[in-house]
Amino acid sequence: MKKVLIIEDEQAIAELERDYLESHGFETDIEGRGDIGLQKALGQSYDLIILDVMLPKVDGFEICRQIRQSTDIPILMVTAKKEDIDKIRGLGLGADDYMTKPFSPSELVARVKAHLSRYERLTGDRNDRGDHVFIRGLTIDKPSRRVTIHDQEAALTAKEYDLLLLLATHPNRVFDKEELFERVWGLESVGDIATVTVHIRRLREKIEHDPSNPQYIETVWGVGYRFRV
Ligand code: CA
Repeated sequence: MKKVLIIEDEQAIAELERDYLESHGFETDIEGRGDIGLQKALGQSYDLIILDVMLPKVDGFEICRQIRQSTDIPILMVTAKKEDIDKIRGLGLGADDYMTKPFSPSELVARVKAHLSRYERLTGDRNDRGDHVFIRGLTIDKPSRRVTIHDQEAALTAKEYDLLLLLATHPNRVFDKEELFERVWGLESVGDIATVTVHIRRLREKIEHDPSNPQYIETVWGVGYRFRV
């Protein structure tokens, strides 16, 4: 199920958006404060963000700018002021779309769907062609679970492979250590998130030309890791 983060401080609008999206099969999360919304957007895995401009603590312009430094997931900005539209365009914030309030909720849902499918096509075409993932000299052969770097095979353990595959199939998305641990090790595990750090280090030793200056798996300080494209 696709997950949408709604950063909106007007509760009635946030709830209207939520109701429409949920009735169309989306999962949603509402946050009314800008600073917490930004943290959520950076730390958790959403497929799309609906972002109000005027927000307490940190405004939508700044949130958009900061999200764009770490991920290219679709951002749909919503504003009460027509003049904000020029600002969104002018600042080159990287928002994918914008709507002025009041808007029709069904129009919102239509745009959310359009952006999600566009984004899927984009990331799919670029990095993930069926059984293989190709990114700058790195190839992941999914059926055989083999990884090569410039045609040299990298001998990865099962967990190193799972970790790499998860990161590489979600390029540019920042994962925090908790999420990586949950998704790669799951319930079977007895370790803790320090395991993630250790595995990332070993993985880098195997796939990076210079592990201290990684070209594939990048550390996002204070948050986690992302696979660069
Ligand atoms: Ca507002």
